[in-house]
Amino acid sequence: MTLPNADPPSETQAARLLRPLSWRGFVARHLHDYNLAARRRWLALVTAGGLSTLVALVCLIAGFDRGASQALLAVASLALVAVVAGFPVQIPRTKYSISVADVVVFALLALQGLPLAIAAAAIEGLVGAVRSSKRWSSRLSTPSAAAFAMAICGLLFEQLRPVLVLLGISSAQAQLVALCAVALPYFALCSLPLISVVSAKTGQRVSLRHWLENYSWHGAIYLLSAAVAGAVAMNIHYFGTTMAVVAGVLALILLGLVNVSIKAHEKELDRHDAQLDSAQREAEHNQRRFTAAFTHAAIGMAIVRSDGRVHQVNRALCELLGRQDNELVGDRFESLLHAADVVLFRRHALETTANSGSIELRCCAGDGGEIWVSLHCSRFADPGAGGDSMVYQLHDISSRRRAEGKLHHIAYHDDLTDLANRNGFNERLQVAVERARVDPEQRFAVFFLDLDRFKVVNDSLGHAAGNEMLMKVARRLVDNVRPSDLVARLGGDEFAVLLDKLCEREPTLALAERLLLVLAEPMRINGTEVIPSASIGITFGDMDYRSADEVLRDADLAMYAAKADGRRRIALFDQSMHERIAEKLKLEGDLRRAIGEGQLSLVFQPLFDLEPYCLSGFEALARWVHPERGPISPDVFINLAEESGHIEALTGWVIDQAVGQLAAWRAAGLTRSALDMHVNISGRDLGNAGLVPLVRETLLRHDLPASQLTLEITETTLMGKLSVALDALHALRKVGVKFSIDDFGTGYSSLAYLSTLPIDSLKIDRSFVMGIGSKSQAIEIIRAIMNLANSLGKKVVAEGIETPAQLAALKQLGVHVGQGYLLARPMPAHDVEPLLAAPVPEPA
Ligand code: C2E
Ligand code: CA
Ligand code: CA
Repeated sequence: MTLPNADPPSETQAARLLRPLSWRGFVARHLHDYNLAARRRWLALVTAGGLSTLVALVCLIAGFDRGASQALLAVASLALVAVVAGFPVQIPRTKYSISVADVVVFALLALQGLPLAIAAAAIEGLVGAVRSSKRWSSRLSTPSAAAFAMAICGLLFEQLRPVLVLLGISSAQAQLVALCAVALPYFALCSLPLISVVSAKTGQRVSLRHWLENYSWHGAIYLLSAAVAGAVAMNIHYFGTTMAVVAGVLALILLGLVNVSIKAHEKELDRHDAQLDSAQREAEHNQRRFTAAFTHAAIGMAIVRSDGRVHQVNRALCELLGRQDNELVGDRFESLLHAADVVLFRRHALETTANSGSIELRCCAGDGGEIWVSLHCSRFADPGAGGDSMVYQLHDISSRRRAEGKLHHIAYHDDLTDLANRNGFNERLQVAVERARVDPEQRFAVFFLDLDRFKVVNDSLGHAAGNEMLMKVARRLVDNVRPSDLVARLGGDEFAVLLDKLCEREPTLALAERLLLVLAEPMRINGTEVIPSASIGITFGDMDYRSADEVLRDADLAMYAAKADGRRRIALFDQSMHERIAEKLKLEGDLRRAIGEGQLSLVFQPLFDLEPYCLSGFEALARWVHPERGPISPDVFINLAEESGHIEALTGWVIDQAVGQLAAWRAAGLTRSALDMHVNISGRDLGNAGLVPLVRETLLRHDLPASQLTLEITETTLMGKLSVALDALHALRKVGVKFSIDDFGTGYSSLAYLSTLPIDSLKIDRSFVMGIGSKSQAIEIIRAIMNLANSLGKKVVAEGIETPAQLAALKQLGVHVGQGYLLARPMPAHDVEPLLAAPVPEPA
């Protein structure tokens, strides 16, 4: 066997050896890197080995005289050793090799004696050293060590063998035991001198432990070789040389096969190594690729360790957050998130059982702003970090979020007032309803607010003015509720207020009162002073509501109740309102039947010219005596007819009856002069295309001149319906019918517009007449109306005259026509006839 070569390879060429040999020259050439101690040890070793070899050769040659075959055998044996030593079995993955030559050397010791064994050991050492080293220092020291070691151990062997035989062991067995006994000393003597030279040269002490750790297995091989050689010798002893040759050949073949298989194995290992190398290179490539992708990615990325701290960030993330990477690395990842979204982030992290997931949340930018990001997380095993790490990818979605926010705002807000719209209100209200269901302590209240007579402003002053008024009302509402309350515009002139967490009735009502007050402050719209007012319906959240719709429905009902009570009122919702609605529905049905079944009747209230005092006509007023409830006020059933769509039938019936009655009196010769018949028509009638033909047809049928029919329309109705009313007014005017504006002074008539309308008279509202004597303003207003009417050439009628003082004042103001309980009450037709017969005296 050969030991590893300690010398660095040298470029020494064999040719140089042929130069004249001198110790100095040799040292310069081959031992230039040996210090003195090393040189001495080397020289001692080579001398000992050389002498051993020399003595062995002399003895060997001296033995040849016994026969040529002896010499032949010796040469053949040495040749065998040289060949076998030339083809050692390389131990895969090591720099060591095993040579069968050791077996041959031990076998020669046992079978052929010490001289041949020494020569064989020297040749084995030489061949091994030539194979493994280019330096002659090694090529000489190695065979020397082997020769010297064999000389010593061979002598030992020759002493031991006979002793063993004497001890009673058979000679073949004694040979085996003796060989084994000297194997380890032989190994020690081969290796230690060489190691001692190397250690002197390098200055490194070699400990026994180091020697055992590194070379002990060599010793085992020597022992094995000795055992095999002993077995071979024993074999020859028992079976003769032929068998030994056969076994030797077989052993060589086996060795050859082993060598081939080891080579194949070696190749396999090399291929495996190559694969490992390539896998490692691939891994390094991947690492480089990842680093490049991470660093230069357009998307913000961070690697976060299992302790939640940022390990690495890329440039895009620093740019996204407007911070330096050294500010971010080492920070807790959560500290980059918007405080309000940390809980969301943790919940997401807990819920994400898979290795990856996405979430949208806000991050804090370096400048303190917030950035919406889509955060994608993926987990990966990170052995370097001692656990799983996360890769977070942060994609800026701020602009998309802004767009969504805008769309959401549009969907949930009213574009005119920027208040919440019905959707926005319902959403918040639904939350309040659900909260109150879970916790009855969480009460709330809802105001349903409707502007009174908004339509009049809108139609008379124009849409822009209407919008301006709505915006001002919205502002007043917002300014007068708490910041936590929600004000919404539900549509048109309807507003709602959600008073969250307000449970006491008193403060709620006080707030509603305050709203009515602030709304009623005059506002200037388009140069005109308008006094807005509203009706408010209130409901509280403790009524076991299940949906926002139910709440709004009840607040709406309460608002209607407030309106019905007279405008500018507040009404609290109560269950009876539902009952009233049911009742109203029933009454509607009754009214429909009443019109068809003749339950309605007419009364006639006379009208008088005041100067000179004489009967000038009648106002026909409808009456309904309900079979169960008795008389029902026209204010109630006329409204009901308007709401339920029965007004057309009712108006048609009234016109027919009134015109028919006057025509009958006329035909009977009861009327001395042309009397007027006033009939009230409602807003819906004006929009009814059938009104004009109906009036024309009725007049024709009863043969009454159109000029004797006056249609009364209230000021607010007319102004509210102006757009649809004008055509009907002009068409009826063509027919010859006259018009009077009822309840004049209560609406918002544009005075300029009044002059262009086909109107014959203005009927001053009862409230002004009632104010005569008590309110000084009343007289002024009536005087102003008189001036206006006179300048426009219109007649003025005063209604509701109850006292002689009122009558006197009106006469003094120049009012043309009067009506009122003082002059005559509404009466059935048969009571009218005596009036027609004789002139009525003026009340005193
Ligand atoms: P209006 O057109 O202003 O009718 C005058 C109302 O004043 C009548 O009430 C009449 O009875 C009442 N009145 C007359 N003189 C006096 C007075 O000196 N003092 C007081 N306090 N009241 C007086 P009525 O009949 O209850 O009618 C109420 C309203 O119902 C009418 O107001 C009118 O708007 C409506 N209406 C009545 N009949 C009809 C109808 O046939 N068709 C339509 N569309 N509306 C009608
Ligand atoms: Ca009237
Ligand atoms: Ca009236």
